[in-house]
Amino acid sequence: MPPLTGSCACGAVRYSITTEPAFSFHCQCHQCQRASGTGHASLFVVPKNSVSVEGEVKFYAQTADDGATISRGFCPHCGSPVLGKSTGYPDVLMITAASLDEPALFKPQKVVFSASGQAWDYVDPALPMA
Ligand SMILES: [Zn+2]
Ligand SMILES: [Zn+2]
Repeated sequence: MPPLTGSCACGAVRYSITTEPAFSFHCQCHQCQRASGTGHASLFVVPKNSVSVEGEVKFYAQTADDGATISRGFCPHCGSPVLGKSTGYPDVLMITAASLDEPALFKPQKVVFSASGQAWDYVDPALPMA
């Protein structure tokens, strides 16, 4: 399957990943709701050293519920969220599922922070919830 490739909406930020996703999930924490503008973020985790990024990524950092600093990376031109990093997991990056050139390759395995999910944000009830 690799390399996985993707971009922001305008194409100014592009990335290529040389490994399979290590973990794929939906996050329903309130910060992800705000950052995505909808009910959850859909993300997958890959080793940082497997990702190459072209173009300028701007980061917004805030303290996550687990106490780590999470930095959400977005394209400064079109505003699309593309990737995130956490001081709690310094060796990985989180990539937004819909930034993939082939978003159908995203296979969510779990829902995290489901307790803060919105009633209108329906997610597959067959997925493990945390
Ligand atoms: Zn862009
Ligand atoms: Zn979240």
